[in-house]
Amino acid sequence: MSHTSQQVLAELAIDTDLLTETNCALCGCRERRLEFREGPFAIYTCSDCHLTYTSPRLSQSDLVREIYGESYWRSPAARERGYTDYLGDHQLILRTCRRRADLVENHTCAPGRVLDVGCAAGFFLQVMAERGWDAHGLEPSAAIRPQAEERLGTERIHGGFLKGSPFEPASFDLITLWDVLEHIPDPLAALRRIHTLLAPGGVLILETQNVRSLTASVLGRRWHHYKLAEHLFHFHPGTIRQALEQTGFSVHHNHARQAGKYVDLDFALERSKRVMPALGWLLSPLRALGNPVLYVNLFDEMIVVARHQEELPVDFIPQPVGAC
Ligand SMILES: [Zn+2]
Repeated sequence: MSHTSQQVLAELAIDTDLLTETNCALCGCRERRLEFREGPFAIYTCSDCHLTYTSPRLSQSDLVREIYGESYWRSPAARERGYTDYLGDHQLILRTCRRRADLVENHTCAPGRVLDVGCAAGFFLQVMAERGWDAHGLEPSAAIRPQAEERLGTERIHGGFLKGSPFEPASFDLITLWDVLEHIPDPLAALRRIHTLLAPGGVLILETQNVRSLTASVLGRRWHHYKLAEHLFHFHPGTIRQALEQTGFSVHHNHARQAGKYVDLDFALERSKRVMPALGWLLSPLRALGNPVLYVNLFDEMIVVARHQEELPVDFIPQPVGAC
């Protein structure tokens, strides 16, 4: 275990009594291959369906209490946990959200009613509201939710989890989860709940990391998405498709090219030096430009576009996605 990981685990001070061993969340299989261990956590891949997951782990309520506090959004060790300065980076995040909104609008019709699950400070919803959408958010972290309430209005932002959320069935045209599904202990239950909240034919768009990407393969256990306390699942195109099809969705697109993020050079250098020192050395001449903004895409994330599939007539003829 790296020194930094030891520091983070010590700082988290997770009571190991709170950690629970778990089987595969997709197929329930107990057979699995150990990928590696770090601290109290291990990464396994299911022998049956090939889902990669963390075990043991915290429950959903313990995750919110132990992990997603104020220090998650302004973390001294974002490689292992949370964000360096989520609110301080708001201009970069907004720029990424505008790019995401462009992609969303390529797969949807006229602005309708959108729910962003895990909306954090509400930046994506702010962009969607600017584009005419009736924007609503769900955010369990009380440390960041007031930011979203300030941006969108308290009546549009809800605390708690998908389970027990106050929304009417079939009341949304679009539901989004940006880097959220891998944090939810029961992703199938979350997707089933999302299915009930989407109107028939509604669109689900989610972004999550691809454990079978070239970047993940090259970096191995140094892969920056192995944040073991918070990233409970590491999907790949096959397992995310299986999860969606098991819960009533059909997958229409899986984009890697659009799944980049805007970061500044300081961030890129800090991350690259940790995982691949040579890359940090290659980027360092850009210092002459100050701290420029870069669009970084390591092709290790997926933006998946899925449609609510049940309720369709048996003679349904699929239309091109995005057709109105
Ligand atoms: Zn499995």
